[in-house]
Amino acid sequence: MRGKLTVGNWKMNGGLAENAARFAALAREWKPVDGHELAVCVPFPYLAQARESLAGGAVGYGSQDVSAHANGAYTGEVSAAMLAEFGCGYAIVGHSERRQYHGERDGEVGAKANAALAARVTPIVCVGETLAERDAGATGAVVERQLDAVVDALGAGLPRIVVAYEPVWAIGTGRTATPAQAQEVHGRLRARLKRAGAGDVKLLYGGSVKAANAAALYAMPDVDGGLVGGASLDAHELLAIARA
Ligand code: PEP
Repeated sequence: MRGKLTVGNWKMNGGLAENAARFAALAREWKPVDGHELAVCVPFPYLAQARESLAGGAVGYGSQDVSAHANGAYTGEVSAAMLAEFGCGYAIVGHSERRQYHGERDGEVGAKANAALAARVTPIVCVGETLAERDAGATGAVVERQLDAVVDALGAGLPRIVVAYEPVWAIGTGRTATPAQAQEVHGRLRARLKRAGAGDVKLLYGGSVKAANAAALYAMPDVDGGLVGGASLDAHELLAIARA
């Protein structure tokens, strides 16, 4: 059976003092139930602090991006091997904010997922449609195109990824997909993954998840947890979501 996974995405937020309080609350209060896992993806400079505060405990941690390259003249990039050295379990790849503000294309997202897997870091591959794409009836085609690039890039590594469905219109807007809307897309992604021999990949939903709506979303048969942005900055809210 697929266990649940809740991942906090701090985005570009944090500071040493506030992180310390968040890490301490998560480490102290998170008690995994029924194999439910909890992790936080923090800005690169705070990975050392995450390792100090969380390594060896029940709360995992990771990064919000990873380079597609192993090493070399790629100023500003961080390789998967570097993330592994800091104990990262996860790297978010293809977040819509990376696609939107940094021009990341499907092929690059696949290459990043591949690089993460090669270093035994689990890529959390984000897919999702804009409001215009949803209104045009293109949701299924868009998320399948985004997923296909990763299926093509990974081959046999595919079962080791996590996928997050994050409709762009629901990220940071307070507007959440209904559980039925989430399930419809997750069902489609599940079918695509099954055809590729990876039907047990965890499928997270992301987009204005909070404690008040998590239980209904997590109850859907193909929703295996959540990728939580804004609400993850409050450790107690993140814990309440993970307990949903
Ligand atoms: C995210 O950044 O991945 C996200 C889902 O953000 P929010 O929860 O704030 O909508």
